[in-house]
Amino acid sequence: MPGKAKLANKPREKCGVVGISLEDRDAARSLYYSLYALQHRGQESAGIVTHDGFQQHEHVEMGLVGDAFDESDIEQLPGTQGIGHVRYPTAGGVNECCAQPFSVSFKSGSLGLAHNGNLVNDGEVRDQLEARGHAFTSNGDTEVIAHDLARNLLDEGLVSAVRETVQRIHGSYSLTVMHGEKVLGVRDPQGNRPLVLGKVDDGYVLASESSAIDTLGGERIRDVEPGELVILEPNGAGYESYQVADKPQTAHCFFEHVYFARPDSVLDDHLVYEVRRELGRKLWEESGIETDVVMPVPDSGRAFASGYAEAANDVGAKTEFAEGLMKNRYVGRTFIMPTQGEREQAVRLKLNPIKSTIDGRTVTLIDDSIVRGTTSSQLIELLYEAGAEEVHVRIGSPSIIAPCYMGIDMKTREELIAANRSVEDVRDEIGADSLQYISIDAITKALDSSSDDLCLGCVTGEYPYDIEGEDLDRDISRPTFGSADNTAD
Ligand code: SF4
Repeated sequence: MPGKAKLANKPREKCGVVGISLEDRDAARSLYYSLYALQHRGQESAGIVTHDGFQQHEHVEMGLVGDAFDESDIEQLPGTQGIGHVRYPTAGGVNECCAQPFSVSFKSGSLGLAHNGNLVNDGEVRDQLEARGHAFTSNGDTEVIAHDLARNLLDEGLVSAVRETVQRIHGSYSLTVMHGEKVLGVRDPQGNRPLVLGKVDDGYVLASESSAIDTLGGERIRDVEPGELVILEPNGAGYESYQVADKPQTAHCFFEHVYFARPDSVLDDHLVYEVRRELGRKLWEESGIETDVVMPVPDSGRAFASGYAEAANDVGAKTEFAEGLMKNRYVGRTFIMPTQGEREQAVRLKLNPIKSTIDGRTVTLIDDSIVRGTTSSQLIELLYEAGAEEVHVRIGSPSIIAPCYMGIDMKTREELIAANRSVEDVRDEIGADSLQYISIDAITKALDSSSDDLCLGCVTGEYPYDIEGEDLDRDISRPTFGSADNTAD
């Protein structure tokens, strides 16, 4: 029987991972640059673990990558291979115990582990490990994976040990692991979280997004397959691939394409920017309205808005694509500010209207999603204050009605504006003249996929895993395990 997952009170992870093996130069600087490229995936902490052939070295700090490392920190991380991690803020504030990579020493060596995702049966695995004498220093699921893998490595070879851990842990994960001089990349059997393999001139890279590989001047080779283990050989000598779990139906997170990933990343063979533009085109086809101007909520709505305006102009609509909201680049995403008060203040800190684009005109405002609705209603208010005659809102994702249990901070239903409201009620709440979301059908078409191969949990309430407390109309071809309490957050 699955154990009760401790999801409710633990940090929600949305992280970036990287692993690098290079021929004859230290990997730390490349890891550092990669973490910069993945900074959008987590701003609470950053860390690097390297191995110099003799021992493991680590530096893990709270804060942005640029604050967590200085030159001497990088110089003190010798070794031609290593892993790195950036981590998302916790709901309750910073939490140093859960900064990663997580390191553990055991009888036959050391292990560093970086994790993006969320297990749904970590409580059960933790209980079993504790019964065998393992002592934990945090309540995070990453430590559970590290201990389980370390235990397996005592008795088995590397591939068998990983295979065994993958059989035991359930949920979403992309891992990079430093074991001895080898760097490992593991993607969960449903491919819920992204992981990409790439090549640089003198070695190989594993990263959450291909933009990290681009940053190093490298090239993406391919996505790591669901349930695949990729081992980067020491000194950039090559890589090996092993399928360590059966591939059930995939459950790629559609929201990576809509919001989280960088537009210049290629995930699961799709350039995110093109997916967003295509969704914008489909948004016009499904619910286009001719207004004087179409404008994005920067930056996340930009690709959608350009696709939408292009499709509108293709059929003769005289709608102008223009920037109407200017962004202060030094303020973070409102979606990941820790408290509601901070989020509200941040909207006005972050965006300022360009009056000449807006005054006396009808406006279509395009965004990728509406989560709490706070940002949308404040932006609409800003547009009216700047003289907009009408404000119509079009959204590049279906309405978000349910939390995420796969490692994304989607909060509780109470905090989701669309959870218990009709589209008309949400429109009224945010103060728009009209509001339309894109359909799930458009999402699946833009990703050349089917709804069965995507995780759409936050827009359908149907998850790829059995989540206790959720009212599921589940696809029985998917594995069911684990449980979660969604009543507290
Ligand atoms: S529930 Fe939503 S955000 Fe979470 S993994 Fe699924 S699609 Fe992604």
